[in-house]
Amino acid sequence: MKYQDYIKNVPNFPIEGIQFKDITPLIGDENAFKHAIDELTEFSKTLKANKVIGPDARGFIIGAPVAYALNAGFIPVRKPGKLPREVITYDYELEYGKNTLCMHKDAVKKGDRVVIIDDLLATGGTMEATIKLVETAGAEVVGLGFMIELIDLNGREKLKNYPIKVLMQY
Ligand code: AMP
Repeated sequence: MKYQDYIKNVPNFPIEGIQFKDITPLIGDENAFKHAIDELTEFSKTLKANKVIGPDARGFIIGAPVAYALNAGFIPVRKPGKLPREVITYDYELEYGKNTLCMHKDAVKKGDRVVIIDDLLATGGTMEATIKLVETAGAEVVGLGFMIELIDLNGREKLKNYPIKVLMQY
């Protein structure tokens, strides 16, 4: 599967200087979407994950079908003010701007094997924040999966203690 044929590069979105990688053609294509989800599911299966986390918002689109295919639970990590019960929170820097992520305090527990799935690895800040949430809650992060890695931003450096699967690199 030539995944890169399904990614559209959008210059200067959402701000000047950012080359936005638009995954909507990939997820909108029945074959490409299935291949991508199957590959990330296979990776997660080898790690014996019982929970999948997807960070807000594109992580939901990719993480939820992986969780379903794996017979695992899906856990949303969201922006502030979206989750209705008690949360743990973490602040971090993005490639463009700042962000805070939240997870329900009781979403994972000791003994859970968690794989975190997102659309794109840029600086690694989003993933690092999500890992902190999981580990603060006492569960184990067993792997990280992405559709896209932007290699020049070296996000991998922050994540070197974890197995990583990416479907394509730029
Ligand atoms: P980071 O925390 O820097 O690794 O950024 C990753 C998150 O920001 C991902 O969830 C992406 O959805 C989004 N993101 C960052 N850079 C880009 C980009 N160039 N194109 C599309 N999405 C991006």
